[in-house]
Amino acid sequence: MAGHKLDARGWTVRPFRAPHHTASANAIVGGGPQIRPGEISLAHCGVLFLDELPEFDRRVLESLREPMETGLITIARAAARIELPAQFQFIAAMNPCPCGHLGDPAQSCRCSPSRIERYRQRISGPLLDRIDIRIEIPRLAAEELTEAISHRAGAQLAASGEPAAQALRARSWRLQRSGCLSARLSAAQLRSCCALPSGAEQLLRRSAQRLALSGRGVHRVLALGRTIADLAGSETIEAAHLAEAVQLRRALDVPPPSSS
Ligand SMILES: [Zn+2]
Repeated sequence: MAGHKLDARGWTVRPFRAPHHTASANAIVGGGPQIRPGEISLAHCGVLFLDELPEFDRRVLESLREPMETGLITIARAAARIELPAQFQFIAAMNPCPCGHLGDPAQSCRCSPSRIERYRQRISGPLLDRIDIRIEIPRLAAEELTEAISHRAGAQLAASGEPAAQALRARSWRLQRSGCLSARLSAAQLRSCCALPSGAEQLLRRSAQRLALSGRGVHRVLALGRTIADLAGSETIEAAHLAEAVQLRRALDVPPPSSS
């Protein structure tokens, strides 16, 4: 449908799509006079990576909400209405502020608080609510960067095989128990397969209040808590698993510190 040639070597490799922030809505979501799938469908069962997230067109970003929820995109044109698969792992990156130096110990930020605010507001609350894990990554020192590039750290990690093996174990465990991955569990399924010990239940209620989590937010924290418990090989979601899940979605919730 996209008019690409089938590359047999890529047959069993999950797609990784990283469209540029200047890409049109049609290119990302799909559409056009002769409807063609967009990047989100080309990333089906793989990764959609958006670098410089706030630079994307606001309408493009908002149109990701439906497929992030349903794994499908509906494209309606005068003559036709078609549904395309778009179940992607959404990964995005952004700077902490327009100049990129907020919180950087090596260089000071030149942005005014209102400029930082405007920059962050390009990511709407409802879109942010659909991103389960948000982490801040501090600047790497030059030697750390060189080490990463020389693959020493990566090679050590790969040699141990531990993170990948752990993820695979957790994944197949969840598939056996629920028939789907925890990210895809409905709120009702989550509640039934995630009986919470009372400490965890309390922590969830308190966090929901303190952080003003939406209904979706609570659901996503539970799903992530389920994944963290699966990685730890734990049948129940303990308070510590939930605390980690809550912590992992806090970046960007707090207003940026004053840059002065
Ligand atoms: Zn700045």
